[in-house]
Amino acid sequence: MENSLDESAERDCYVVWERCLQDIRQKLDLQAYKTWFEPIRPKILEGKQLTIEVPSKFFYEYLEENFVSIMREAMNNTLGEDSQLLYSLRIEDGSFGSNAPQNQNNILINGEIKVNKEMSQERFQELYVETPLNFNYTFDNFIEGSCNRLARSAGYAVAQKPGTTAFNPLMLYGGVGLGKTHLMQAIGNYAKNQDGNRKVVYVSVDKFTSQFVNYMKNNDLATFRSFYEHIDVLLIDDVQFLAGKEATQDIFFHIFNHLQQGGKQIVMTSDCPLIELKGLTDRLLSRFKWGLSADLQQPDTETRMAIIQKKLQDKNIELDTNVVDYLTNAVDSNVRELEGAINALLHYSVNNILITLDIAKQIVQSLVQSSDENKEVSIDEVIKTVSEYFGVTVEELRDKTRKKEIVIARQIAMYFAKEYTSYSLKSIGYQFGGRDHSTVIHAIQSVSDYMLEGKEIKRFIEEIEKKFKKR
Ligand code: ADP
Ligand code: MG
Repeated sequence: MENSLDESAERDCYVVWERCLQDIRQKLDLQAYKTWFEPIRPKILEGKQLTIEVPSKFFYEYLEENFVSIMREAMNNTLGEDSQLLYSLRIEDGSFGSNAPQNQNNILINGEIKVNKEMSQERFQELYVETPLNFNYTFDNFIEGSCNRLARSAGYAVAQKPGTTAFNPLMLYGGVGLGKTHLMQAIGNYAKNQDGNRKVVYVSVDKFTSQFVNYMKNNDLATFRSFYEHIDVLLIDDVQFLAGKEATQDIFFHIFNHLQQGGKQIVMTSDCPLIELKGLTDRLLSRFKWGLSADLQQPDTETRMAIIQKKLQDKNIELDTNVVDYLTNAVDSNVRELEGAINALLHYSVNNILITLDIAKQIVQSLVQSSDENKEVSIDEVIKTVSEYFGVTVEELRDKTRKKEIVIARQIAMYFAKEYTSYSLKSIGYQFGGRDHSTVIHAIQSVSDYMLEGKEIKRFIEEIEKKFKKR
């Protein structure tokens, strides 16, 4: 009886499961064993396949996450190599509620779950790598002021206790460049630093949508959904872009519910308050209202001053008070523009040019002008226009491919991003697969050089420029 079971026992799933439990019991402390293994019921034994019934989806996930190797070993010892463990969900369990969407249960029934789970584990990392946090966005370097106090403190509360405050979802809203993305990522970074095992994912709605479409094409939505349903803190940026995307809204609705019910944290941003969000289904909007909405407003004078001082301090650069005062008053629209102006000034002082008030005025005015003229171009539009022109995909431009055609297209996209948007070099780099600002400088320099040399690129640039002008 050591290595094989006799005929009658083989038919009996109870016997098999009991043998597995003997194995498992030796490897766990009593409390864990009682909590996680006593509620399990063996259901069906078919060949080397044992189906066990678990009380809830959460239970199953917990088992998979914490005891999968112990269970696999016990199964192999009992049924031999290539044994298989399948799960079935106890349907009458209240945790889903009777009005749960039908397909939510289906994923969990018997054989299917195994397949989904394995695929998702395999790709989990892949998707996880695609959705990184930007470690530069922290609470420490987020300057607090009356314009952002509520949002910041709600964010901080959520970061300390994700999923357990009343602020779930937390919706941060406000105009461009006011710090929504920064604050949201600060929450993620804080939660992750507190507990490295937490699965924290940052994703823009654009990226979420394109991932969704890809998985749909590959007929593998279960993997997509399973990935997002395994997250502890989901940061989803710019939900206004969900407008009109019904299928994306639909899957997001299910993911949202799943995370909410499982006590996982959701943080969202939007460029307007909930009541002004257009093109979203009522059921999604009503979910969004469950938590807290906090707005970010235009920075007041004190906050602008503090941001400038912090920047200068970080770079260890001193500017004349006149210049600082001028800057504080000249750029009052949003923090992103202010940062752009500071960076431009810093660029000069790094090159040992003394920044006088006159020089500062010149620099700032040219910046403000160019961003006014081209106000409506977003970085997404730049990327889209350039990718269409060269016949490459948006993803190729955004990621790390080194193919020559793509490298050049990407450099041109970076060049236009700098010309047409007010993003800093750093954030442009970040938009292109997390590159650093020196890569962006190099790209811009290369494009300028090519143009001077009168290469073909000059024509590309001129033609693409026309597309922007036509808009
Ligand atoms: P949004 O997502 O609202 O468009 P971002 O979060 O991208 O804005 O912020 C734009 C830039 O301004 C970022 O570089 C960010 O670090 C900076 N920023 C915004 N608010 C603050 C703040 N309160 N303190 C420091 N930096 C800020
Ligand atoms: Mg943003």
